[in-house]
Amino acid sequence: MAVYTDVLCPFCGCICDDIVVEVGEDGKITKVKGACAIGRSKIMGHDRMESPAIREDGELRDCSYDEAIKRAAEILADARRPLLYGWSSTVCETDRAGVELAVEIGAIIDNTASVCHGPSILAIQDVGLPSCTLGQIRNRADIVIYWGSNPVFAHPNHMKRYSYLSKGRFTPGGKKDRKMVVVDVRETKSAKLADLFVKVRPGGDFLVFSALRAILRGHEDVVPDEVAGVEKKDLLSLAEMIKNANFIITFFGMGVTHSGARHNNIANAIEFTRAAHLHTKATIMPMRGHYNVNGFNQVCTWLLGYPFSIDLSQGYPWYNPGETGAVDVLVHGECDAALIISSDPASHFPADAVRHLARIPVIQIDPYPNPTTEFADVVIPSAICGVEAEGSVYRMDSVPLRVRKIVDSKFMADEEIIRRILEEVRAIKEKEGE
Ligand code: SF4
Repeated sequence: MAVYTDVLCPFCGCICDDIVVEVGEDGKITKVKGACAIGRSKIMGHDRMESPAIREDGELRDCSYDEAIKRAAEILADARRPLLYGWSSTVCETDRAGVELAVEIGAIIDNTASVCHGPSILAIQDVGLPSCTLGQIRNRADIVIYWGSNPVFAHPNHMKRYSYLSKGRFTPGGKKDRKMVVVDVRETKSAKLADLFVKVRPGGDFLVFSALRAILRGHEDVVPDEVAGVEKKDLLSLAEMIKNANFIITFFGMGVTHSGARHNNIANAIEFTRAAHLHTKATIMPMRGHYNVNGFNQVCTWLLGYPFSIDLSQGYPWYNPGETGAVDVLVHGECDAALIISSDPASHFPADAVRHLARIPVIQIDPYPNPTTEFADVVIPSAICGVEAEGSVYRMDSVPLRVRKIVDSKFMADEEIIRRILEEVRAIKEKEGE
């Protein structure tokens, strides 16, 4: 038996790096310690796609990697307006190869941020982000605010490793040295653990951020007795807590990015953080979901100048979320082929977008089958990054980390699959040019 320590978990944006994995004589993982239930399930592996396959007469027929890659390349080379979507549950090296493929075929390339923290990115581009690392929060934060986020379910080790329950250099008592505040539209499991729960009316986050900004800037007289379901006295006590703290972090989730004012909510949340700067040190951070959703945004920004929803059809990067996002081009019926990698738009996109996806040729690259597999025309199984393949990833606080290969696998790594498709596309184009 081999024991691997300090393994990184490739599931959520926490990327816990203290996991212990035991591997038996047969090269199979037998035990995972330190991960939460969802991380353990990902590392142990389950219900894999066993073979590459091509759809014929409505049924998927098993085939070789070579055949599936060739067919995928033919679909993409033939397409007039292809979409390359997903990219958040794979490593930066794959994302880089994906950008090269998008440039080669003049595709729209987009990641899952466009349906989760895309509004956060737009707000950050507008007003900046006073942020920090998770290590700073662990060592210093004495007020932890989770706003529109339920880490107990979505990021189960987050409080234990980085925030409320963790013991840091200047917070040796753990939760005795901190206060946790949850702001949400309902009393979630995370809210039940909080020292203070603030219940906001759905869609009312913008107003509550504005009221807190006014109080922190000394204009509490303009705040009415009740703001979006929150009594003024509760806002005043939260503002008082903030004024008296040494280091505040606000973690915000999709409850804020996808309610009411969307990216304006986040711009206002950032301005609320700035207002707290009049009194103390305050920081803010998005609770990124997929383990490398941030990495794709970083890679695209290095290579193309923009973080997501980029249209390369004109020979240069064109960025206009709302026009060039994956959902936009699907709902408008614009794209005529799609490559979906490590993602499941059939489960998460609006019905009109899924209907169009089901009408066009779809290539799917993923370790696992999911509802998108039901209409994919080419299915290519891949190795699980961080378990069967290595690579670079960016944690939710933008700290780059290296995930490791722990066990061998019969499956091809994502990066190799994308590079092989790119080679085939180039060969087809060269032939057409002759
Ligand atoms: S909290 Fe996230 S990164 Fe940590 S073990 Fe759970 S799923 Fe993995």
